[in-house]
Amino acid sequence: MIYLDYASTTPIRKEVLDTYMKVLHEYYGNSDSLHEIGRQTSKLLEQSRANIAQLLHIYSEEVIFTSCASESNNMAIKGFVLKHAHRGKHIITSSIEHSSVLKTMKQLEDVFGFEVTYLPVNQAGIVQTETLQKALRKDTILVSFMYVNNETGAINPIEKLAKIVHEYSRAVFHCDCVQAIGKLKIDLSYMDMATFSAHKIYGLKGSGLLYKKKNIQLLPLLSGGQQELGMRAGTSNAPTHIVMAKTLRLALEEQEMCFSYVKRLNDYMREQLSKMQDIVINSDKACSPFILNISCLRVGSEIMLNALNAKGFAVSAQSTCSSKSKARSYVLLEMGLGEERATHAIRISLSHKTTKEEVDAFIKAIQEVMFDYGT
Ligand code: PLP
Repeated sequence: MIYLDYASTTPIRKEVLDTYMKVLHEYYGNSDSLHEIGRQTSKLLEQSRANIAQLLHIYSEEVIFTSCASESNNMAIKGFVLKHAHRGKHIITSSIEHSSVLKTMKQLEDVFGFEVTYLPVNQAGIVQTETLQKALRKDTILVSFMYVNNETGAINPIEKLAKIVHEYSRAVFHCDCVQAIGKLKIDLSYMDMATFSAHKIYGLKGSGLLYKKKNIQLLPLLSGGQQELGMRAGTSNAPTHIVMAKTLRLALEEQEMCFSYVKRLNDYMREQLSKMQDIVINSDKACSPFILNISCLRVGSEIMLNALNAKGFAVSAQSTCSSKSKARSYVLLEMGLGEERATHAIRISLSHKTTKEEVDAFIKAIQEVMFDYGT
């Protein structure tokens, strides 16, 4: 099987797995126990937190370990607005966020009486700074935008957006960095909170992070023990959190090399696909090269996905988290690309592990499917 679905998840790195197996086996103590066995685990856990802080140029107290990016998004958004609802009940996000943000927003509207403004995006899938500036209000308390869209790879001008939030409002700025970390240079200094996940960068599934500036207070969503600065009660999954540091270090060390390689591959793929009839490229040229979204106009997404699967290629029709809803791509619809492109889209996501031969084989397979089904 040729895997072209790296935005959905990645295979675990051998070095990370080896360390995980060792830590899992040897550091079984509860990191909150006061005896030596617990203290050894706690020491490694805190070392991992410090290493992550150093890699991201933040303080150790700003690193909260979670189980995934969905949890980090929930923790940041609900945790902040529920704690500060007395200051205002207006939130801003965009209409093409990941479901873990959009459904959190919906719950805040339906259950907790918040008002959420969903900003539109342009045809390239980008939030416009002017639109944000106009939407900010006195009672806006939180703004949340993704760095890189998971269906198209569109890159938001995060630094500019964050600056507008801080200049024109009292709101805090949260950013979902899941598809950006290990791929683009990220500067956390202008963000108040940011979300990360390990399994998109060759780490463990069930491992996430929330960066939260020291002065920001959140309402804990899990009550109980004092783990993770009192934000996340429950015995720490220490081995998982411990290997996050290595996962992140390796991803950052190889970032530049991976970017240039994948960029060349993406350029090549675009060139080949643009020669084909009835294929439209939905990802703008300025998108992250790790994601390429296309619509094969004569073959619906689901048929294309299944036909490619039968030929030995793994790709997604849209975000994997929405894949069971059978819906058309809400991201492409919001970009104004129309019903046909939204119902015929597939997402190809690349890695430094992808070879040119794999890309060639994939293009040939698409041609065959278009020939077989596209009447
Ligand atoms: N945010 C974005 C942009 C994503 O692409 C994903 C996963 O696809 C998530 C959040 C959720 O990540 P996790 O699976 O770690 O909960």
